[in-house]
Amino acid sequence: MISLGNDDQLDGGDARAAELAQRLGVVRRRIEAATSAADRTDQPRLIVVTKFHPAEDVRRLAALGVTDVGENRDQEAASKSAGLAGVDIRWHFIGQLQSNKAKSVVKYAASVQSIDRLQVVDALGKAIAREQDATGRSDLDCFIQVSLDNDAGAHRGGAAPADVEVLAEKIESAAGLQLSGLMAVAPLGADPEAAFEKLAGISEALRAVHPSAAAISAGMSQDLEAAVKFGATHLRIGSDILGSRPAVG
Ligand SMILES: *Cc1c(COP(=O)(O)O)cnc(C)c1O
Repeated sequence: MISLGNDDQLDGGDARAAELAQRLGVVRRRIEAATSAADRTDQPRLIVVTKFHPAEDVRRLAALGVTDVGENRDQEAASKSAGLAGVDIRWHFIGQLQSNKAKSVVKYAASVQSIDRLQVVDALGKAIAREQDATGRSDLDCFIQVSLDNDAGAHRGGAAPADVEVLAEKIESAAGLQLSGLMAVAPLGADPEAAFEKLAGISEALRAVHPSAAAISAGMSQDLEAAVKFGATHLRIGSDILGSRPAVG
């Protein structure tokens, strides 16, 4: 048996906690190796994507030192975060967002990483203003999701690179919204290094106008090394930590 080295953090007899600890350790070592291979001194932030997995897993991850989780459906995220109100963890919304969900998302999300159109910025701006009036919550960190697909029928979502600047202006002009940077998903079947190199170029152009919008959220289980190589500041890792998800229809 390998030693997990952190047995004191595990609930007695919780096999799932032990499994998560082991898988999380593997991913953390991959991130460290990729970071040093890229000669980077800054460590990217790990967002563990917990979609389709129970709230109890989020609690276990928090006990293992995870500080950030990602969810892609409002209903699921709202109910999990409500059930874990006492757990010190930041929630990131990373899925396709309908404008009518903005009101709900600003109740629990530290960031929305999937902003891809002006209508969503409008909705989030209004929702955060109301929420800040009511609760005094902090500003919402906003990432523009950019499409790295070459064809127009971008099935992995995101704004066209040419539309990033107008979205950035709109976010910057809304009180309560902070422009963090960009998010992207590597196109299926394409070389992730080429995709993330392109993303780094789009980020550079954005930072020329908005110097503080330096975040790059890129890299999933399959391609985190490529993302780290091309400057990702946030990684969104799901299946390599939590195991496979049930297929969605
Ligand atoms: C599900 C998801 C992830 C995590 O993907 P894995 O391959 O499970 O690591 C990352 N980003 C987004 C936008 C997702 O929807």
